[in-house]
Amino acid sequence: MSEEDPKDKSLDPKNWDEFRSLAHRMVDDMLDQVKGVRDEPAWQEVPSSARKEIQRELPMAGLGDEEAYQLFKENIFPYTNGNRHPRFYGWVQGTGTPLASMAEMFASAMNPHCAGFEQASTYVELQVVDWLKQVMGFPSESSGVLVSGGTMANFVGLAAARDDRAGFDVWNEGLQHSKAPRLVFYGSSETHGWAQKAANLLGLGSSAFRPIPVDSDFRIQVSQLKKTIQEDRHQGLKPFCVIGTAGTVNTGSIDDFDALADVCQSEDLWFHIDGAYGAWARLSDSRKHLVNGIERADSLGFDLHKWGYLPFEVACVLVRDPLAHRRPFSIEGSYIPKVDRGCLKSGLPFAPLGIELTRNFKALKVWLSWVSQGVDRLKEQIEQNIAHAEYLKSVVEEDPQLELLSEVVLNVICLRFNPGGLDQERLNEINLEILHRLHESGLAVPSSTVLHGSFVIRLALTNHRTRRADLKLLADEVVRHGRDIV
Ligand SMILES: *Cc1c(COP(=O)(O)O)cnc(C)c1O
Repeated sequence: MSEEDPKDKSLDPKNWDEFRSLAHRMVDDMLDQVKGVRDEPAWQEVPSSARKEIQRELPMAGLGDEEAYQLFKENIFPYTNGNRHPRFYGWVQGTGTPLASMAEMFASAMNPHCAGFEQASTYVELQVVDWLKQVMGFPSESSGVLVSGGTMANFVGLAAARDDRAGFDVWNEGLQHSKAPRLVFYGSSETHGWAQKAANLLGLGSSAFRPIPVDSDFRIQVSQLKKTIQEDRHQGLKPFCVIGTAGTVNTGSIDDFDALADVCQSEDLWFHIDGAYGAWARLSDSRKHLVNGIERADSLGFDLHKWGYLPFEVACVLVRDPLAHRRPFSIEGSYIPKVDRGCLKSGLPFAPLGIELTRNFKALKVWLSWVSQGVDRLKEQIEQNIAHAEYLKSVVEEDPQLELLSEVVLNVICLRFNPGGLDQERLNEINLEILHRLHESGLAVPSSTVLHGSFVIRLALTNHRTRRADLKLLADEVVRHGRDIV
């Protein structure tokens, strides 16, 4: 035992008993709030009084745990964007679960450095990635890693594609190599904005992303894709990758993956799928066929913090060829020697699979949730969201003042108030006003998009707390506000 010396300072509590009782209260407050979330507004603005408490002078002298916690509890804790609430349907955001929150607490208390090392977290992440390969139909020899989100997962996939298919040594030469042909890649015009961000960050330039028109169901036109590839080759460009999307942000559409895989095969292109939320259709008996061919991708990015219901952040990228996965990220350093004993015995297996070196223990919330709830519970929730979308569709169809604006493929539904006799411009104005009123009243948080010039109220049902009655209420309120505005 080393002796305590008052000259040695630490950030641990001075009085563990006091801290323990505060910590227990914190957990109780956390659970009370989540349990009671249905009775709270779906969203509310951060009041200026709370903003004032947040925006403090650089606190040189601390206030102590108790006072700091009270400030948090009153001014920060209540004001979220609302995605935990049963009537939050905006964009595509997961709800989180109380069990996963506990996992997050333990992940931070264990605080393991998840680049690797000989420690349990390494085995947990390897196991979780292995489960995800099974769910998505990837071979067990393929490579994968957990990352912060879909953007990062897709970025890693595209980086692997670039370095594998550029036709020269990108690692050494970079893209400033003047003699190399210009690299281009493809996806539908409905591809999420990550593709342009990644194109820029990978040195390709965002114009290297070639958006291909979609059909009336918002799916990539494969014939157009083939034609554009030929034209680009004629122009001396070098196509290297095609992106398919499972669940577009606007309408939840899913590209024809078998057709895209065939194109990639015959054109010798890398096939990446952005499966951010739609990849989870794999778990739905009724919708699985929609993502046929997903298992043929060279790489697949998808979130667990959207339709996997887990709290932010966690996503996964799977790459069929383990060597290709590592190529953009492998470095060597004398500070990470290869050893077969001690703490570094297992090496740093996750460091060459992405941008980050120091990584947190994201895998724990996945492992604990799946072991506790089983994949069957996850399937049940996913089927429920799909059934809820069908239910809301029927509510909309039965009400002559509501209009459905896209096919309900999975869990995304686009609707608007349209009592008839109003022009597009007026309808757009009215529906925007309805959206604002839904948010500001705290009733519900859907989001919006524009489809063929129509402003629509868009719901993505990735919420495990939603009940049918919540969706009926939303539809009724859209009509009520609409009538009121007219
Ligand atoms: C959400 C989403 C992304 C981005 O994922 P993040 O986790 O937000 O980084 C990419 N593609 C699609 C289709 C998405 O829905």
